[in-house]
Amino acid sequence: MVKGAIIDLDGTIYRGDILLPFASEFVHNLRKNGIKILFLTNNSQRTVSFYKRKLNKMGIEVKDSEILTSARSTARYIKTHYSDPVVYPLGEDGLISELLKNNIEITYDHRIATVLAVGYDTHLTYEKLKKASLLLQNGGIFIACNPDKSLPSEEGNIPGNGAQLAFLKEATGREPYIIGKPHMPIMAEALNILNTSASKTIIIGDRYETDVLAGFRAGLMTALVLTGATQKSDIQNRKKPDFVVENLKELWNLLSK
Ligand SMILES: [Mg+2]
Repeated sequence: MVKGAIIDLDGTIYRGDILLPFASEFVHNLRKNGIKILFLTNNSQRTVSFYKRKLNKMGIEVKDSEILTSARSTARYIKTHYSDPVVYPLGEDGLISELLKNNIEITYDHRIATVLAVGYDTHLTYEKLKKASLLLQNGGIFIACNPDKSLPSEEGNIPGNGAQLAFLKEATGREPYIIGKPHMPIMAEALNILNTSASKTIIIGDRYETDVLAGFRAGLMTALVLTGATQKSDIQNRKKPDFVVENLKELWNLLSK
């Protein structure tokens, strides 16, 4: 039996505001069997408290320490890797609140900033992108919360943080250091929080390119649930996850065998 579970949120536990079937029972079963849980989302827009409230409202009891967002991981990464960083943030509440919580100095003056931190920002303007580009050209450190090119919405796929990064890369020729899935910084932190060994930890998610690839890279067990982004036909010619399941009930049946 696994000792730790890293669980994606959107498309895995809920879709938008709707709890997915068996999600609540699945989490309950993990807890009952002493399996440690960490909810892990690449979304940097919202705060950890937002996700806690959202999950609680859906009937899933969760503590702050059981939620890791790419914004939280980005702020902690900056805090531990740079001394006296002055961060110019592109992003929203989720990112700003984590930077502040880590006592990181924030500025909107690109001339004094030393680090550019880029998260999903629905208030993005040309002016912000211009300042960010100038900061990068002046040698600023380039950190990104996540690489997601697009995100699903009721209107269709809309531009995500990866699209913002593409603008900055094109404008400056610089490459960001990316914290979120499928990259290692957030995975290393997730394992650190769970304090479980990689081979006894499973990552469960609906998106092959982020969740499953992150699991492969970090040496975890991997489960793809077909309740969100990736369909079975998408992975026909790709390395197979340990489990490919229609829903979390099926996954629990396999895990508890
Ligand atoms: Mg997802």
